[in-house]
Amino acid sequence: MSGNITFTMIKPDAVGNGYTGKILDLIISNGFKIRGMKFIHLSEAKAGEFYAVHSERPFYKDLVSFMTSGPIVAAILEKDNAVADFRTLIGATNPAEAAPGTIRNLYAKSIDANAVHGSDSDENAAIEASFFFSAFERF
Ligand code: UDP
Ligand code: MG
Repeated sequence: MSGNITFTMIKPDAVGNGYTGKILDLIISNGFKIRGMKFIHLSEAKAGEFYAVHSERPFYKDLVSFMTSGPIVAAILEKDNAVADFRTLIGATNPAEAAPGTIRNLYAKSIDANAVHGSDSDENAAIEASFFFSAFERF
């Protein structure tokens, strides 16, 4: 059975462009409940660890420097089938391929600066949520 939480970040491009409120509104109006949320500026070490799975990819260094270029909003979201439904809501990694009405279609400019993160599995959603939030910060 699919799980009921996913993890998201509103990335520095979207925060910097003033889209935080619009993106949160889309998330909430699509049935996700916020179970934890924080506004933070990632260190290089923290961003590098979060994206360690991509450390061999050619875009890794640029990704870490982009993710530390400004503050982000990190959140735990709850909904039935949260991981898959949120991936549908955010759209394809490359905004040029993201379906109309998806968050990346509406608010992202490029494949690297693509507005939002969404977990890719229930297992990673649990790992990512715990990476950012202590038991006192999630509900
Ligand atoms: N990314 C990039 N260039 C690429 C592929 C990915 O800069 O060719 C960045 C982009 O910010 C993406 C993140 O690396 O969101 C993680 O990549 P992944 O393949 O996991 O995409 P996602 O799960 O975010 O859609
Ligand atoms: Mg991914």
